[in-house]
Amino acid sequence: MDQETKLDICPKCNSTHVKTYTLPYYVENLQGIRIGINDCVIKTACYLCKEEVISIPDINGLVSAAAVARIMHSTKLNGAEIKFLRKAIKLPSKDFAKIMGIRPETVSRWEGSGEQQIGYSEEKIFRILVGNKLKNELQEDDKAPAVEYDHMSIIKMAINPIRPSGNAPLLKFARVKMKLKNQKIQDLWDELESRAA
Ligand SMILES: [Zn+2]
Repeated sequence: MDQETKLDICPKCNSTHVKTYTLPYYVENLQGIRIGINDCVIKTACYLCKEEVISIPDINGLVSAAAVARIMHSTKLNGAEIKFLRKAIKLPSKDFAKIMGIRPETVSRWEGSGEQQIGYSEEKIFRILVGNKLKNELQEDDKAPAVEYDHMSIIKMAINPIRPSGNAPLLKFARVKMKLKNQKIQDLWDELESRAA
């Protein structure tokens, strides 16, 4: 289904008594990554059965944009975020273990909520692996062209272990119009500002 199509009938009861509007701000937990979205999430509410449907445009693009924004953010990754990033680059956990020279059980522990956390150097290698895959490996396939990436800033990054609330940072996104080389103007996800939770 085209995510950007506005519904004019209720998906539950088929009533046409629906109201469709764009939410000024919406927070989504995208498989472990907290995302704030400005001005483009569409909500359809049914007057009859009270069903409410949330529709977010270009989810694949949002996953890639969120992944790149997250690796450029200095707060230490938690288990759910590591798993989110690994899935964003479609890397099976056994291949991840091989690349990192660790046992598959260690990947499970890193991605869990237990005590064993990824080490700082390993985390930087992982972040660069994600960034390289999404931004450089297939340039023409860059899924997050509006989000800035620079591997040197990850190498030099002082990863911040402090998580007062235990929460992952909230990353904020909006749709922006951009013209990429040899392409038409298109809507892309861009990060607005990020703040540590
Ligand atoms: Zn309905």
